[in-house]
Amino acid sequence: MPKAYQGTCHCGSVRFEINADIDSLTTCDCTLCVKKNALMTKVHESCFRLIAGAQALSEYQWNTKVARHFFCSRCGIYTFHRKRAQPDHYGINVYCLDKFDPSGVPVIRTEGASMSVV
Ligand SMILES: [Zn+2]
Repeated sequence: MPKAYQGTCHCGSVRFEINADIDSLTTCDCTLCVKKNALMTKVHESCFRLIAGAQALSEYQWNTKVARHFFCSRCGIYTFHRKRAQPDHYGINVYCLDKFDPSGVPVIRTEGASMSVV
């Protein structure tokens, strides 16, 4: 059974939980992730549960409008998104996770900048 991690935005309106053994992290060089300075992990939707804050979440879509980028409408923190390349997976902002230390976890740079922009 993968480990359970609780995640929250800054103000605590949005709370979620994932089950994941986080053995690698990703950054992305697309225009959005660069501005978010996002450090992410990826989980299948079956390993993700939104516990609180559905009404607090705002959604941002751009470009192909496949990926769905969520952030807290109160504190502005990016919490997670529905991925474009794998729409049944969530990308998770690992800095939102309690009791997770990203130092020492290998980081893979993904090339979102090379994905098509419409
Ligand atoms: Zn918040």
